[in-house]
Amino acid sequence: MPTRPCRAEISTRALEENFRFLAALAAPHAELLAIVKADAYGHSLALCAPAVIAAGARWLGVTSVEEGIAARALALSTETAAPTQILVIGGIFPGQGAAALAHRLTPVAWEPWHFDELFTAARAANAAPGSVPIHLEIDTGMSRQGADPHALAPLLGRFDPGSPLRLEAVMTHLFAADEAGGEITQSQLALLDQTLGRISAAGHFAEWLNVGNSAALLAGQAPAIAELAARHGMKAMLRPGLALYGLTPEFSPDFTPPVASAEPASLARAHTALRPVLSWKSQVVSVRSVPVGTQVGYNGTFVATEPMRLALVAAGYGDGLDRSLSNRFSLLVRGEHAPIVGRISMDQTVLDVTDIAAVAPGDEVVLIGSQGGETITAFDHARAAGTIPWEVFTRIAARVPRVAA
Ligand SMILES: *Cc1c(COP(=O)(O)O)cnc(C)c1O
Repeated sequence: MPTRPCRAEISTRALEENFRFLAALAAPHAELLAIVKADAYGHSLALCAPAVIAAGARWLGVTSVEEGIAARALALSTETAAPTQILVIGGIFPGQGAAALAHRLTPVAWEPWHFDELFTAARAANAAPGSVPIHLEIDTGMSRQGADPHALAPLLGRFDPGSPLRLEAVMTHLFAADEAGGEITQSQLALLDQTLGRISAAGHFAEWLNVGNSAALLAGQAPAIAELAARHGMKAMLRPGLALYGLTPEFSPDFTPPVASAEPASLARAHTALRPVLSWKSQVVSVRSVPVGTQVGYNGTFVATEPMRLALVAAGYGDGLDRSLSNRFSLLVRGEHAPIVGRISMDQTVLDVTDIAAVAPGDEVVLIGSQGGETITAFDHARAAGTIPWEVFTRIAARVPRVAA
């Protein structure tokens, strides 16, 4: 059955090319973990996990054990030579230890009870010493997840010889990698350096240093992170999300003029190489001509200023189009920007197509993506709605089918 025409087209080809570009950018300094949490930033885990694995990703990052179980099933049906490692970056919750082990997920852990839960599950499963990999998260300043770097001794004790738990990686999150000055990142890396010294002084060793998002990678931090890792006998891993989906994070202050020379080469290359993976499309349902003075939408917040032609579109806030864009954003029809007029409804939106010739029912409407020579990005939505593209993507509703394109 044909469906209501409101869908997100996912270019798995663009995703694969973005992954390969980013992996080449990180090499030889660091390996990449592909962030596919929150249904691959709303792009569909089912479409995206196999694509990034095919492109060479050996590590996936998800939020939860639930997402990890879904990712494991996809990885098993896509499996290549090396098994895919799946990192649960949001940590586990009480009672989830057994499932995490059964699906060979790699938990991020920082609370003592995380270790209790995993230790108990590992013992119950007769896990061999060192067979359950853990990424120990350190709070280097974000005050979100992570253990206090000055109070690690009790946690490190969980990795003593004979324990089923193995310290596979030390992890932290660079929470201001999009600040062009980089001072916060520098102080985080300095604290991490001291912490790694303390961990090895306590007789523990981790294979991986797991640090850095898209902004860190594109700002050219991979060599510095790799150098820090190498100083402690570790290998570096970075965790891009947004860049995989084809968006380059915005830096503040901007690297572009007046300080164009300050733009890292990696960022300049990313601007041309990365391609958006998601296009969000709908259609014109009907077109009507209205006289001057006609009210449009709930509460008549728009009144026709002249005889106008209006196009009804099969997409609304129930599909994830932010209602705050009412009367102040435009969508693409016939390759031109058509202003949204009146309030966005739950399921529908009205466009002013007075100045666009021959708009007719069935015409494609682009909410995110390109049409003719024009493009609307998730950043455009974010700026207009006062948010960030991560939220724009993850708010595209579940009822909008994600289709491979
Ligand atoms: C979401 C997330 C990332 C990816 O961030 P991007 O800015 O999208 O690249 C990396 N690490 C952690 C811990 C995250 O939660």
